[in-house]
Amino acid sequence: MILFKEAKDLKKHLEKCKAQGQSVGFVPTMGALHQGHLALVQQSRMECGVTVCSIFVNPTQFNDPGDFEKYPVTIENDLFLLEKQGTDIVFLPSVAEMYPEGLHSTIHYDIGYLENILEGYYRPGHFQGVCRVLHKFLNMVNPHIMFMGRKDYQQCMVVKKLIELYNIPTLLSIVDTLREPDGLAMSSRNMRLQTDDRQKALAIYKALSYIKDNITNSPLPQLLQEAGSIILQAGFEKIDYIQVCNADTLQPVAASDGITPLVALAAAFIGGVRLIDNVLID
Ligand code: AMP
Repeated sequence: MILFKEAKDLKKHLEKCKAQGQSVGFVPTMGALHQGHLALVQQSRMECGVTVCSIFVNPTQFNDPGDFEKYPVTIENDLFLLEKQGTDIVFLPSVAEMYPEGLHSTIHYDIGYLENILEGYYRPGHFQGVCRVLHKFLNMVNPHIMFMGRKDYQQCMVVKKLIELYNIPTLLSIVDTLREPDGLAMSSRNMRLQTDDRQKALAIYKALSYIKDNITNSPLPQLLQEAGSIILQAGFEKIDYIQVCNADTLQPVAASDGITPLVALAAAFIGGVRLIDNVLID
């Protein structure tokens, strides 16, 4: 496994790989790696000749500075896991390497309504920061395929839009959410949960699964209310949103027509930790 800290060295190395006919797969992460991240690496290794994984806690995508400061950093363990998984290249840039122009930006990515709904509504500026960092990474790595997790459903849609907007010659491959044996979606933020909150956190998946299992039996507004109660009664202190949307557009729906693919999404706080999850309703 080769470790790069500067984009120019990484680019030079990747140009050689590409000249030898190797395809490049890219897995961007913010570190504190778990099996969900490693599933992306595994997928990339299956599909591409060279796998690059980046670890960078991107300051411009945190709307809450407290969340940024508390974001777990476990770099030694991350490198150990990546090496064990057979990762070819790790890119570990500094903030100065990624943002030589400074953190403030005047560029606005035109991602349309995706910017203002769900995650975008509750985390103003978040997707601008995501687009900014990924646009830079895509220019640096120029991968054939970028692998991202369905766990961040709206992020995947935003990145699709970014790729379209700039005609970026990279394919986006979306990998299913990896879950703990009890169903909780794996997340770097789970590390911050106290033991009893970890048990209660499962309610977010239970609530989304409840919607999925009952969508043909009950009116959607009633289901959403019941799902909200499942989350709050388990001990979550606050729900940002719980919604059922068209799986292709993310526009909220009022009812299921039994045909259109839907997705149930939620974001809620437990023990001060904000968790998100989603479940596809095909
Ligand atoms: P993060 O480090 O949280 O920015 O995540 C890096 C990538 O891993 C993103 O594409 C996430 O969607 C993906 N990811 C995070 N958690 C999971 C999971 N439980 N299963 C699959 N992919 C995940």
